[in-house]
Amino acid sequence: MTRDDIITLPHPSLRKRSERIHVITDETKKLIEDMRSAALDWEDSRPHEIAVALAAVQINRLERVVIVRADFDNKGNQEFIALINPEIVKLEGAIVTEHEGCLSVGHQIYGAVPRYQKARVKALDESGHEIRMKVSGFVARILQHEIDHTNGICFVDHLKDTYDAFFKLNDKGDLEPVTYDDAISTGIFRD
Ligand SMILES: [Zn+2]
Repeated sequence: MTRDDIITLPHPSLRKRSERIHVITDETKKLIEDMRSAALDWEDSRPHEIAVALAAVQINRLERVVIVRADFDNKGNQEFIALINPEIVKLEGAIVTEHEGCLSVGHQIYGAVPRYQKARVKALDESGHEIRMKVSGFVARILQHEIDHTNGICFVDHLKDTYDAFFKLNDKGDLEPVTYDDAISTGIFRD
């Protein structure tokens, strides 16, 4: 799959809940590989960004599967870790606001999104074994963002009432503030 298979807002699937995976089959493994190839192809078109994670809904498959990059700092490492039926068990710590982007939010729009600093997450790995993770910082942020996708929530939905939370990535790779009206004119909110 390619970057063209990634859907962007206001595509209605992005506001739908995904279904649990009951049995991990070869089709699930194929889905994971399709997600990986789409994410990496997207990354090839982005000089300043790395594809850190993707949820299956972003290639329009309403299944509870998420992939997360094994190494966020090294584009050369193209490995992703798959999480099947990922769930937040507990959110903890302070609420921290940081910039977030999304492969399904076009026009290079970023947002300053408040998230819990720590999370406990459970999921199944590709072999069906349960994984339990205690994560913090950037990984905790990514997992909250991706698990939101499995529940039909995009990062912009957290910013509906925040008028100074939107940014745009410029050609040099820096974030510049954009007005709320400019951000919403890209169709990121439901009517
Ligand atoms: Zn996203």
